[in-house]
Amino acid sequence: MSIAESGMQSPTAHLFNPLFAQPEGSPIRELFPYLSRPGMLSLAGGYPSPSLFDAEGLQHAAQAALQQDAAASLQYGASEGQLPLRDALAALCATRGVQCTPADMLVTTGSQQAFDLLVKVLVAPGDPVLVEVPAYPATLQTLKLAQARIIAVPTDAQGLDTDALEALLSQWPHERRPKLLYTVPNFSNPGGTLLPAARREALVDLAHRHGFAIVEDDPYGELRFDQGCEPSLYATGQVRCGAAANPVVYLSSLSKTVAPALRIGWMLADAQLLRRCTIAKQTADLCTSPLAQLIAAHYLRSGRYAPRLAQACAEYAARMDALCSGLQSALGDQIRFVRPRGGMFVWAEWLPPQGRAGDALARALFTAAVEQGVLYVPGKAFFPADAAPGSGLCMRLSYAAPTVPQITEAVARLGRAWGQALS
Ligand code: PMP
Repeated sequence: MSIAESGMQSPTAHLFNPLFAQPEGSPIRELFPYLSRPGMLSLAGGYPSPSLFDAEGLQHAAQAALQQDAAASLQYGASEGQLPLRDALAALCATRGVQCTPADMLVTTGSQQAFDLLVKVLVAPGDPVLVEVPAYPATLQTLKLAQARIIAVPTDAQGLDTDALEALLSQWPHERRPKLLYTVPNFSNPGGTLLPAARREALVDLAHRHGFAIVEDDPYGELRFDQGCEPSLYATGQVRCGAAANPVVYLSSLSKTVAPALRIGWMLADAQLLRRCTIAKQTADLCTSPLAQLIAAHYLRSGRYAPRLAQACAEYAARMDALCSGLQSALGDQIRFVRPRGGMFVWAEWLPPQGRAGDALARALFTAAVEQGVLYVPGKAFFPADAAPGSGLCMRLSYAAPTVPQITEAVARLGRAWGQALS
């Protein structure tokens, strides 16, 4: 038996940095043990569908990387990233309306690392940081470990509420101005919302006026189910404030559209910020795997990205429809949610009979769901501790990985779990 399994006090416990003395792991990763139960259906993970991985295309790309660029693929590389990949990612950004060059870009080990580096470079303990809530839990975790003061900015069915943000900023003491605002404007995690163009403009104007940087986290923007495209905040910032004064830092990733295992993310920012993040990266991992970068570069140049993306959008749209239509017909007015126009998530709130709300019901529901064989992420995971009350009857449901028949069965199980929790 290992020391970890024995439950014994760690012999190094007295050495822990106080921040890691009682660490809370990722609330989503802590659901993993339930996943191994026989027959469990999961709407919990944020994993892309394995059926959409282009293993054959990636095999060709890996072969090309190792045949044509063997030395660069297998050697240490520049911390900024491999030029062929930065070229290919700049071309990808152009298809999203984001104009940039490889010099504006830092390749990171997943976009998670990009946010971590930004926080290292910008946030000192106690600094106020604005975060849309509900928020991506790893963002909250990163900020907690940086000892930031998290200021929750409310969202609604259209994403971040810019009027509420303006009201909040108007009362905020000037000398303690927030440095950063974090948002996922395209098909947010967990809300699934798409920020309208007018709010994008309002947000960039607020950042410009109040002197904070916006972190636009955009892993889901290309997974859209209908036509039309809101300009990215980064592009909005370039238009409204000029390239040199753009308050937006843009983060994106190949995790949701190619494969998370590549661990390819990237950041667009001004030269000085980029330089500092590059230095921070040197102490984190020296460089993102050059082999993964050159596989990604060959893959992006192979012409297989766009058709595979179109296939993913069609598949996710069908799965989203199965989930939303299923919830609507099985649970009707007992549940409230917004049908997403892209991405991987539905954010839903249970509407219990009068007087039945509360944490006890939320706990009973989760226990009943596990008993029924269905998993979701309880809403609390997406709020900073002091903004969590009332979030317990919300949940994040992901339709990306399960098939349509599995989603239909999962909805039926959710309905039974709700009945069980109320009884
Ligand atoms: N941001 C958001 C909003 C996410 O949902 C995720 C992954 N779930 C990430 C960042 C991190 O993605 P990766 O590190 O795989 O690029």
